[in-house]
Amino acid sequence: MHNIRLLRQLRWPGGPHRLMASHHKRPQMLGSVPSDQLEQLKSNYFDRREELSGDEWHSVRHSLIDGYKHINGHNVDAVILGVCSGPQQLSLAKNYVNYLRSTGVGPNAATLGRLLRVYNAAYHTRPLSEAEQREILQISDSLQAAHETLDATSCEQLIHGLVATTEHWQRALPLLEMMKVTSTPSVAAYSALAEKAFGQSDHTEVAWRLLEEMVLARKQPKCEVFLALLNRLAQVPAAARVQLERLLQFLERHNILVSQKVAERLLQLGQQLPQQLRVTASRLGPLGKCQECRQHLQPVAISDEQFRQLSECFLEKVLIRGDVFQKSTPQEVLRFKQYVEKTAPYDCVIDGLNVAYSTGAKKAPQQLAKLLATVVRHFKERNKRVLVLGREHMRNWSKSAMHYVQNNASLFLTNNLSHDDPFLLYATLRSGQETDFFSRDLMRTHAFLLGAELKPIFRRWQQEHQFSLVTQTQTGKIIVKEPIRHRLSVHKAEGGTWHVPYCELYTPNPTDSFEVPEHWLCLTLRP
Ligand SMILES: [Zn+2]
Repeated sequence: MHNIRLLRQLRWPGGPHRLMASHHKRPQMLGSVPSDQLEQLKSNYFDRREELSGDEWHSVRHSLIDGYKHINGHNVDAVILGVCSGPQQLSLAKNYVNYLRSTGVGPNAATLGRLLRVYNAAYHTRPLSEAEQREILQISDSLQAAHETLDATSCEQLIHGLVATTEHWQRALPLLEMMKVTSTPSVAAYSALAEKAFGQSDHTEVAWRLLEEMVLARKQPKCEVFLALLNRLAQVPAAARVQLERLLQFLERHNILVSQKVAERLLQLGQQLPQQLRVTASRLGPLGKCQECRQHLQPVAISDEQFRQLSECFLEKVLIRGDVFQKSTPQEVLRFKQYVEKTAPYDCVIDGLNVAYSTGAKKAPQQLAKLLATVVRHFKERNKRVLVLGREHMRNWSKSAMHYVQNNASLFLTNNLSHDDPFLLYATLRSGQETDFFSRDLMRTHAFLLGAELKPIFRRWQQEHQFSLVTQTQTGKIIVKEPIRHRLSVHKAEGGTWHVPYCELYTPNPTDSFEVPEHWLCLTLRP
């Protein structure tokens, strides 16, 4: 009864916001009330308990409904299962659902969905018993029988339940297809299925298909997927070489940075299968030299043929489909093309507005113009032919600085509404393979528009040719970020050694910036 008393003492004026934020996405309520009461509820009520009495559940349920504005009779059960969702709390979660059944109300679909996630959490710490697997199937059957088409959330919950079974996980595959009716399946749904498929002896192809599909939908596979494959390979060394090569090629093709967890598993696999592979942790020395094998990482530069494909595709999109130049008038585009034909090739194309604003947009026009002039001087001193792209309104900036720009570079001003990137990329690509550009823009949209095959080639070209401004010192000196000329993602060096960069933690949205990863694996697959 101690717990009942404790619960009654708890007065939750605003509600368990941290919990609710994670489950119901109400960021506007974040931060107003601490969630410590709920944590207290959890530690005093749910931790180390396998069941609660009917009275206790009744009390928990009503206290939540009375104490929180946004908890009501409809969602309280799912909230409770959200709180007891840890792998050790399966008994407790089931006990609550049984309590609901005993009251005659029964759990709703959302509550049963949550229960499936708890089964999944338990499954990741131990194999589920046959009885537990039967329970999952019963829940799945009842949910699927009740609705011909399920919403994406229900599908995702069912997928998580079904992959925790040994025999019936493939029933989850059509549910992934069902999710596509209303949305793109989530990272969690794709990952749960690919992880399961990699764990089976003869479903590797299903896993690879799901992986390819998810990265094309711009979803980053979770670490567990790769771990499942590596764990499987430890058991079937005969397949290791081929599958590892495929994994590395996949990571290379999609420019995926694995996490430390995956890197550590690869290191361990090297120890488990010394006949198949050699893996060591490494760092890069100056100019991208692997400290382990003493080889230089491959240059990022693309081949002549790849450059031809890239510029043809880009120029075609610009010139024929015109969608990249949406914000400009055809007359302006024509005027620009004629200007480029007349004055190209350049060594460097500068996005004037981007440069001027790169140390803050709220500066006096005089300062903006001066910064731009300083960047132009940087290239002029290196005898570079420069094109500066700008906007009409820049004519009103400081006369002397703009004169310097005009006298030392070609200057093309577009109307004030135009987007500058397409002009910048057009002029750079049109000038040839050696030409660089200066902008801080990551060019994500353009990379994406080029499609899956050309995107990685565009990214490599971009890495090799993009300069940007780091900062301007007090004395007015500028610090320019130069492109990194060696590759920054997984790739194979001459002689067959793979270099695999990794980051600390998985992130669903990796940045597209070109930073040199600090940690690398040096990996050789033995023939
Ligand atoms: Zn190496």
